[in-house]
Amino acid sequence: MITVNTKLVGLLGFPLGHSLSSAMHNRAYQEMGLDYCYLPIEVSGEDLPVVFAAMKKMNFAGCNITIPYKEKIIPLLDELDPLAATIGAVNTVQFNDGKAKGFNTDGSGFLRSLQEEGFSLCEKKVLIFGSGGAARAIAMTLAEGGAAHITLCNRTKEKAVSLAAEINSKIRPCANAIAMERPELEKYAIEADLLVNATSVGMFPEITALPCPASCIHPHHTVADIVYNPYQTAFLQKAAQKGAKIVHGDGMLIWQGVEAFTIFTGKKPAASSMETGIRKQESGNRNQKSG
Ligand code: NAP
Repeated sequence: MITVNTKLVGLLGFPLGHSLSSAMHNRAYQEMGLDYCYLPIEVSGEDLPVVFAAMKKMNFAGCNITIPYKEKIIPLLDELDPLAATIGAVNTVQFNDGKAKGFNTDGSGFLRSLQEEGFSLCEKKVLIFGSGGAARAIAMTLAEGGAAHITLCNRTKEKAVSLAAEINSKIRPCANAIAMERPELEKYAIEADLLVNATSVGMFPEITALPCPASCIHPHHTVADIVYNPYQTAFLQKAAQKGAKIVHGDGMLIWQGVEAFTIFTGKKPAASSMETGIRKQESGNRNQKSG
């Protein structure tokens, strides 16, 4: 039951119609018997400062931040975790004694999803497709986490060039950028240990699209896709057919949520309860569409 003592956690973004976060967090609160309630709050960019200031005065333990406010929230914070400062984006905010501290759990959630599948980053070469918000958090975190080399490949090459330069200057010189063109792409692909799709290519409804030519995928690869709708993307299907190891996109979603949950509550949830929340919400969404 929600009472005046219930701790609140918000999700600030726009639009939030397809968000799975409240299902994920509320399921874990329920299973752990925690007096918390997670609320999606759609807010316009204009209203973000006033809504955020009001949350600091209320019974909110924290909030998640999603598109399009992960950068816009930074000037509203009192404190910033060093990794979030390097990435330049925040997806989790903790409220403590009227102060707001920002974190980024997207990249670390992705890294954890790789580790859960037995992948160790140490001395590994990585080829990342994409240079948007998610690719930025992932690339910076993998550079911090000890990847031997990171190659960024993006439809708009200039964005990959500038992200690689930022990694090289802010973290260490371990990144380069290439165009989405053969034969250079194939050369970097065969040398890589890990391929990551951090673009939106392959996401519902364009489910047959691949982020790179199939000739770039080899059996020695670990292939990760951060797209989680559909669960098994065309990229992961192709990788599995070729004998590569695959890592699904819902792993990142779950593990960034697990880390955020711990920041809000000080307690570690079972990843399985967060996953159950997601599955229930997805089946509810499907029933709504067919009903
Ligand atoms: P974003 O900032 O808008 O970046 C989109 C990226 O996809 C850019 O690199 C863009 O290239 C590329 N792209 C889009 N359409 C393309 C196309 N037709 N061909 C080639 N490249 C294309 O979005 P984001 O926040 O990084 O999110 C990217 C994807 O990750 C989304 O599908 C999102 O749902 C997913 N995601 C998953 C998680 C998770 O927890 N699993 C978390 C965050 C995001 P240009 O720069 O050339 O436009």
